[in-house]
Order: sequence, then structure tokens, then C-alpha cells
Amino acid sequence: MIFLKSRQEIEIMRTANRIVSEIIVDLRERIHSGISTGEIDRIASELIKKKSARSAFKGYQIRPGVPPFPATICVSLNNEVVHGIPSLQRFINTGDIVSLDFGVIYKGFYGDAAVTFVLGEGGDQVQRLIQTTAAALEAGIAQAKVGNRLGDVSAAVQGRVEKDGFSVVREFVGHGVGRRLHEDPPVPNYGVRERGVRLREGMVLAIEPMVNIGAPEVKMLSDGWTAVTQDGSLSAHFEHSVAVTENGPEVLSRL
Ligand code: MG
Repeated sequence: MIFLKSRQEIEIMRTANRIVSEIIVDLRERIHSGISTGEIDRIASELIKKKSARSAFKGYQIRPGVPPFPATICVSLNNEVVHGIPSLQRFINTGDIVSLDFGVIYKGFYGDAAVTFVLGEGGDQVQRLIQTTAAALEAGIAQAKVGNRLGDVSAAVQGRVEKDGFSVVREFVGHGVGRRLHEDPPVPNYGVRERGVRLREGMVLAIEPMVNIGAPEVKMLSDGWTAVTQDGSLSAHFEHSVAVTENGPEVLSRL
């Protein structure tokens, strides 16, 4: 069931998403060669406390049999697609691709966003991967309009990615977001225009392309969380929470 949000609820979600984005920006500025992903997590949990919010991810249960997510933030490096678990033994080096995915709960509503960047200067292909993934997210956002269908969003993301010769991950998708982190509808990064649910005023969608340089397939590590590319190729991930309004798409997580 898709829950439509009132103007007032969207304003709370805007604040939740601003908290997410401000912390992501802050973390990004502090990341340097030699920092551990566990240290990033420690800083994230400190920052979130100052904002009167809670982590949306810590303790999150993805499915029975998998232990709840143990950290405040997901940090995924290089061939890791999403849901990397921070560790004090895992160090970031110059040239690594760093993806930060972060969510909070604020006044009963969720905010959710992600960015990817390369520490230092990446090669041309890595830069292109990151630029294409960001551009695919923007292409999807532009279609999040009243009267469009969900397939317009999905097809725009897929088209932008494949135009540049990269592939979109199928196993993980975006989602509605609101009083729960993952609400209906699922928002795939692939699809067909003019298909799927009709977009209505008050929907809030977390659009989040996950893009691989190589093949689209992923596999799970034994921790039950970390998804990596099956062929070992590099991967990028961007996410914004977007409200569908009469004035067009409003990106709640844009600063
Ligand atoms: Mg999400």
C-alpha cells in the first residue's frame, strides 16, 4: 500500500533528509587516506546525536536469519555495491571509491540518501562511473512528476546508465519512504516507460541507482549484508528522497 504524505509530513521529511545530507557532507570532508570505515561510523553516530535524530539503519532487520545491521551508516568501497558494514580494521586509501548511504528517523519519519566519490583522483573510467550514476539519479528525479508512471522514472535511470555502457543492479531497488524506511512502491532502476503505478501528489520515493562498470549481477558476502559485484568490477550508488508534488519533484535530501 502506498501512503501519501501531507504537506506537513513532507516538511518533517525535509528536515529528516536535511539532517542526513548535512551529516554526509560533514563525513565526506573528514574522510582521508588511512581512516577506517569504523571511524567514519563512530563520527556518524556522534553527529546524529547532536541532531536529535536516530540512525535508520542500526538494528535494521533485512530478513529473518540475518543479524540486524550493526552500524549507524553503510560504507561500501570499490566493488562493494551497497550495505558495507563499517569496521575499525578496514582502511580507506587514495583512489578508493567510497559510497556513504545514510538514513535517520526524525519525528517519526525517515530520511534516506547516498553519495559516492573517489578519494583523491580516480582514473577516467571511475570518474565516468560516478558521473553517470549521479546523472542517472537526476534523470530519474526529473520523471517523478504527477501523472507520470513509475516506469518513467525507472526507464530514465536505466537509459542514462546504459547509454554510457554501464549496467544497473537488479537485486536492489529504490523504495517509497515515510513512516517506514522501506514502503511501497519498490522503485527499480530498470523498467519500461508508461508502465507501473501512476505517480500522485504526496508520494515520496527514494530513488537510488546502483551502477556497475561490468555485469549487473551481485553476490552477498557471508556477513549477510555486504553486496559486491559478482565480476569484481567497480560500483557506484547515489540516492535522493524525492517528494512528488504539484510543483514537480522536490528533492528533500538536496542541500
Ligand atoms: Mg534507500
